[in-house]
Amino acid sequence: MSTVIYPSPVFGPVHSRRLGVSLGINLLPSDGKVCSFDCIYCECGYNASHRAHAKLPTAEEVRQTLESRLKEMKEHGPAPDVLTFAGNGEPTLHPDFARIALDVAALRDQYFPQARMSLLSNATRIHLEEVRKALFCFDNILLKLDTVSEEYIRRVDRPCGHYSVEEQMKWLTELHERITIQTMFMKGTHEGEDVNNCKEEFIAPWLEALGCIRPRMVAIYTIDRETPSPLLEKASREELDAIGGRVRELGIPCSVSY
Ligand code: SF4
Repeated sequence: MSTVIYPSPVFGPVHSRRLGVSLGINLLPSDGKVCSFDCIYCECGYNASHRAHAKLPTAEEVRQTLESRLKEMKEHGPAPDVLTFAGNGEPTLHPDFARIALDVAALRDQYFPQARMSLLSNATRIHLEEVRKALFCFDNILLKLDTVSEEYIRRVDRPCGHYSVEEQMKWLTELHERITIQTMFMKGTHEGEDVNNCKEEFIAPWLEALGCIRPRMVAIYTIDRETPSPLLEKASREELDAIGGRVRELGIPCSVSY
């Protein structure tokens, strides 16, 4: 399969209709993936097939590379609409995540104060106080919650360490309207087992959980690229629209990407 491994520590900018001009900040190594999940749909591939050999970029490397890129963009354009922490795995695994978030916020204020800061995270580190404090630097915090079935999460998101839905719910609910919940819906099979989370048995408890968390927004999407597990299928547009409608009925805005 074709996997996407991003340059590090800065990549792009990427132009998207939804985000505008997004400059990526990848706190993971440039030659492989480091994640606390090992999702069967991950566009970076399985953790074991894409082990990183290079080191994590240091906070100083991130700061210097970002500053020179922002200077260049100030002179020649385009102006970034958003600085997005994403890339080859889970950004909050970086031991200096909090310091880097502060550095990036300071550079943003200096060069492009109108730009937003976004974080794409699987939420496995939000139990750490230093990570939760660092979240205050971000305008958009997108946290993954594909289902509230622990069994499904073990099969599909495949956490690499301890994971408890109950504990996650506590932290997500505490973060409440500061976060966007991001959920992947898909169908198909993995190793002979059904992985369809568009069924009512998954949707109803997930909606109930959203009613408790009351996030600022929910973003649902489906498979868009080739996946490491070969028999996964996209959820249909109708299914996603129907799920999105039910989220909105709870009074929570929901974006649907197909
Ligand atoms: S959390 Fe994201 S980066 Fe990590 S394995 Fe899942 S899809 Fe890939």
